[in-house]
Amino acid sequence: MTKAHILGFPRIGAQRELKFAQEAYWRGDVSAGTLQETGKELRACHWQQQAAAGLDMVTVGDFAWYDQVLNTLALLGALPERFGFDAKHLSLNDYFTAARGSTQHVAMEMTKWFDTNYHYLVPEWTNTTRFDGGIDWLFDELSEAQSAGYIAKVVLLGPLSLLYLGKAKQGLQHKLELLEKLLPAYQAVLQRLQAAGVAWVQIDEPILALDLEQEWLEAFVPVYTRLASQAPDILLATYFESVQERAALLHALPVAGVHIDLVRAPQQLPALLKDWPINRVLSAGLIDGRNIWRADLSSLLESVQVAHVSLGDRLWVSASCSLLHVPVDLASECLMDAEIKDWLAFAVQKMAEINALKKALDGDRQAIASQFDAADKAIRDRRLSSRIHNPLVQKRLAQTTAADAQRSHVFSQRIVQQQQRFQLPLFPTTSIGSFPQTMAIRQARAAYKRGELPHLEYLEAMRSEIRHVVDQQLALDIDVLVHGEPERNDMVEYFGEQLWGYGFTEYGWVQSYGSRCVKPPFIYGDVYRPEEMTVSWSCYAQSLTDRPMKGMLTGPVTMLQWSFVRDDQPRATTALQISLALRDEVGDLEKAGIGMIQIDEPAFREGLPLKRSQWAEYLDWAVHAFKLSSAGVQDQTQIHTHMCYSEFNDILPWIAAMDADVITIETSRSDMKLLDGFGDFAYPNQIGPGVYDIHSPRIPRVSEMQKLLQKARSVIPDRRLWVNPDCGLKTRDWPETIAALKHMVEAAKLLRASVAEDEHSECCQS
Ligand code: GLN
Ligand code: ZN
Repeated sequence: MTKAHILGFPRIGAQRELKFAQEAYWRGDVSAGTLQETGKELRACHWQQQAAAGLDMVTVGDFAWYDQVLNTLALLGALPERFGFDAKHLSLNDYFTAARGSTQHVAMEMTKWFDTNYHYLVPEWTNTTRFDGGIDWLFDELSEAQSAGYIAKVVLLGPLSLLYLGKAKQGLQHKLELLEKLLPAYQAVLQRLQAAGVAWVQIDEPILALDLEQEWLEAFVPVYTRLASQAPDILLATYFESVQERAALLHALPVAGVHIDLVRAPQQLPALLKDWPINRVLSAGLIDGRNIWRADLSSLLESVQVAHVSLGDRLWVSASCSLLHVPVDLASECLMDAEIKDWLAFAVQKMAEINALKKALDGDRQAIASQFDAADKAIRDRRLSSRIHNPLVQKRLAQTTAADAQRSHVFSQRIVQQQQRFQLPLFPTTSIGSFPQTMAIRQARAAYKRGELPHLEYLEAMRSEIRHVVDQQLALDIDVLVHGEPERNDMVEYFGEQLWGYGFTEYGWVQSYGSRCVKPPFIYGDVYRPEEMTVSWSCYAQSLTDRPMKGMLTGPVTMLQWSFVRDDQPRATTALQISLALRDEVGDLEKAGIGMIQIDEPAFREGLPLKRSQWAEYLDWAVHAFKLSSAGVQDQTQIHTHMCYSEFNDILPWIAAMDADVITIETSRSDMKLLDGFGDFAYPNQIGPGVYDIHSPRIPRVSEMQKLLQKARSVIPDRRLWVNPDCGLKTRDWPETIAALKHMVEAAKLLRASVAEDEHSECCQS
């Protein structure tokens, strides 16, 4: 019999029960016991759902109070030593302190989990890191599952991925040096699981899908030889990319099974099947764990027939990766359009799909004929639906030419005209777009959405906010203004709601980090802009001042990256359709007299594929998408873009190729690290490296900003340097915003004065 399982289930709960319990506990509203009870109920519910779906085992160890990497550290007793916790008696409070910080402790750093939007806590490795064993939460959860009568497969993050994902600190030369200390801890855990009667343990080694240095690759065989000697059967799980080039290594590992992602990399199946070791289980990740589309069961079944013939019962079926990255249950969506709903599958529905594949492989197609028929019908309906296809959009995209993505003249010519038009001083000051989103703004927006606030009253509420934002900027003497974005709850949702082809869910929450969840929209059809989206707001704001007012849009790559995207056409095609919609908006803004238009691309870098060999292809279409949206304007219209990360040195040539007249970028937190890359590559256009961190309420001194600006001046010519914060100000409050911007403007003015003085003394000497 084929076995069906999942690599992990979302822990937040269909109604975000975990989030609300966590936050209530942090506020002190409920006890630890109540929080623990919620966790227990959620686990029980999720196991019950797995069993009800017909899976052959339930997954234990995918639950975490905050993050699975932090849970692994708690299990091994390896939380950063700087907290001074007693590893064997770690409390929930200790655990949350590590995750969230406290008055005495800076929180652990957080970073993106591979190419997902989930963030994990980064382990801190030092010479003295110990792995003496920690708390028993995992074993407690295991007994919960076992005593409820389930067959439990336990999931652990593998030792090599754990080490790799951490950061070496305080004199530790190489993370692999910790391996000798780490392995006994893993061995102890595995032995305990074996003693508890666990037959299978799933060990995740997602780093196998990365471009991995030789020393890491070489560590696998010795590590797994040691782990496998006394342990339950090991299912080594890989995901997010192909591991085809690691076939020889995988085949040599002494593990009982290997899981591969056949959604991201279906082509790896034949390559890996060749020389597949006798007796080795292959867990086929067939159902998409990263997207929300209903699966094409018939073609998936077809795609694994060969594997089934050669492996028989040793073929398992699963989702490509943990279901952590998709919403919990489509059944919660009561308001969704029935036609579209039929095309989707969330975690609960995906488990039923896995089971259907298992049944079909076992020849029990009769029993599930209705499931296959329904899937076939949904796939066919979706393919043919007029809601997906818009011939207008397709034709227009087919007719775009390279020239459409090219400004008429080069930057050096454009900037002369722009300068004539705007007459900006040296080191112009600006901000990134949003201003504080006060409670009043949020309430007005929400009331309007619920239909409780009449349209004209809403309009006036937003306009009065815009007036306030403009007045404040004028009082601060900022050179290039913004309207403050009060009408936007979210920079993707705001545009998605105004575009054809975008869909929304009521409960489609996905964990981002800790208790934070996001509800990404989904793109199901050809994207089309029926009417202007921002013009009236921008025009109103511009009518209040003679200073330039930046129009503010979200770029095509970010619109794509922060949504669930179509799986029936290449990502690039969807991005370019969005580009065309934005191009029309840019054109309308220009026609309405808006002279500067900012197209934000904060997600540009996170779209980079995991494997470097695929970077160029991505960057080519991503740059093209940006240019297609922005290049249709006159020379004297100034295009801005914004990105919020500082690690872009390795893609600097592509950032330059976007050919924005001005880019503003995060740099203050990294102390202008971005400037490192400017030695080898001179960024040709104008640039505003952020001079203060908007993520913190701290108000930096004028002198700190001056210092950062001086650093920037060492690599960026004065004529091309802008002065701005790192990112939008929507999470800050007004008093700190005003105070920080005041300092920023002062720093810019002091710099102008000192440059003018230098010039003066130079000309007097000559
Ligand atoms: N214009 C947006 C804002 O200021 C940019 C946000 C972002 O970069 N994430 O809020
Ligand atoms: Zn930003």
